[in-house]
Amino acid sequence: MDAAKQTPFEADDDRPPNPTTGDCASPGPLVATLPPPSLSSPLEFDLSPLAAASRHGMLPLTTHSLPLWGSAAWSSWRAQLRARLRDVDSLARALGASDLLADTGAAVRRFPMAITPYYASLIRRFDESDPIFAMAVPHGGEVVDPPFLSDDPLEEEHDSPVPNLVHRYRDRALLLVTSTCAMYCRHCTRKRVAGQQESAITDAELAVAVGYLRDHPEIHDVILSGGDPLTLPTERLEQILQAVRAVETIDVIRIGSRTPVTMPMRITHRLVTMLRRYSPIWINTHFNHPVELTPESMEACGRIVDAGMPLGNQSVLLHGVNDDAQVLEKLFRGLVRNRVRPYYLFQCDLVRGVERFRTPLSKGIEIMEYLRGRVSGIAIPTFVVDAPGGGGKIPLLPNYIVSMSPTHTVLRNFEGRMVSYPEPMERHDSTPAAAPHAGVATVFELCRGTATTLGPDDHGGCTAHGG
Ligand code: SF4
Repeated sequence: MDAAKQTPFEADDDRPPNPTTGDCASPGPLVATLPPPSLSSPLEFDLSPLAAASRHGMLPLTTHSLPLWGSAAWSSWRAQLRARLRDVDSLARALGASDLLADTGAAVRRFPMAITPYYASLIRRFDESDPIFAMAVPHGGEVVDPPFLSDDPLEEEHDSPVPNLVHRYRDRALLLVTSTCAMYCRHCTRKRVAGQQESAITDAELAVAVGYLRDHPEIHDVILSGGDPLTLPTERLEQILQAVRAVETIDVIRIGSRTPVTMPMRITHRLVTMLRRYSPIWINTHFNHPVELTPESMEACGRIVDAGMPLGNQSVLLHGVNDDAQVLEKLFRGLVRNRVRPYYLFQCDLVRGVERFRTPLSKGIEIMEYLRGRVSGIAIPTFVVDAPGGGGKIPLLPNYIVSMSPTHTVLRNFEGRMVSYPEPMERHDSTPAAAPHAGVATVFELCRGTATTLGPDDHGGCTAHGG
């Protein structure tokens, strides 16, 4: 049977590896023997300003009617995948919520919905003020189409020389191995693909893509994406990894997966044991909000890291979900505490259906300004905008360069203090030295090198204009 025709819900073996051999040879606890998340979890919203609203708006949602709730099958990723909630009415019934959003029908017809029972159990309020609800449940706004949005703003199809493969940057390629995800994020960049038709790359398509990789030895880095590659059966994923790893010029394989967030029971011992055979493998996941940092998701991340695979996180800046510096500070601190490196904070792409999530670029800059100096550098991701028209990723930063002269650059730190940074000596040799400065310095003196620092309080108030 063509592997791509196999059901994605085949039997899997979740036994942990033998500590000596690394083989999955002895029975042991499942990741999902962890109990379902508790409604009184300490991960409930204690954030601000979302926090303030949440404390008052908390609905008495019950999870008892969720598929799989209370059964051993809750621990099975295959059961979670099978039991995904596919429409808003089912979700409302499952959570015992009486108030439904009125206009979700058109959005569901255009962009599919799927939510694992696990991820649905994290919903606390049945409206857009709940970050999990906002990311998972269709919204009438998805059918609003401002003219500057498109189905494929990154022009991936334009950069696709063979089916399922995107080659934009010279040294790396994206291999789209499935269109299935555990949960269809409402803010997804690939809404045109994800869930529209749940299918996986065929053997024939894989052969063509691998042939392209062989013919392009300049490609050293392959990113498995989709959809979500970890929704594939472990056996099929291994076939794909084997085929890619057989290309001698490929150094690194990366996997993008949101399953640690939306279906953490997928990260089985068997999976990570298989993945490590194809090292070096780097994994990037996609946490957007601290409420996603559950014991289950952190257990999943720990398994990946313990298996020797570096784990990064790519968040998307989403209006009403995480466009709050303190919310992101809490998320990034939590990730680092669990050995997940915040890698990118993406500006929401110009994708049709996501207008309600878009923030002004200034919001991201403001958040980066807040984080620098407050949070360790390892907890600060790079804020990037993926330029429309296939322009690639452009990093954006607050402006830290205040002024420049041939001999000195004036830099600003996170406190607003300015410092004069001397350029190499040869620059000074060819520039007449300025006379030493007496009195209170300005940026001009820093630029000439006649003063070294200038703080926000150095002028003792705005009296300099005197006359
Ligand atoms: S998991 Fe990734 S590919 Fe799938 S819907 Fe979410 S953002 Fe899109």
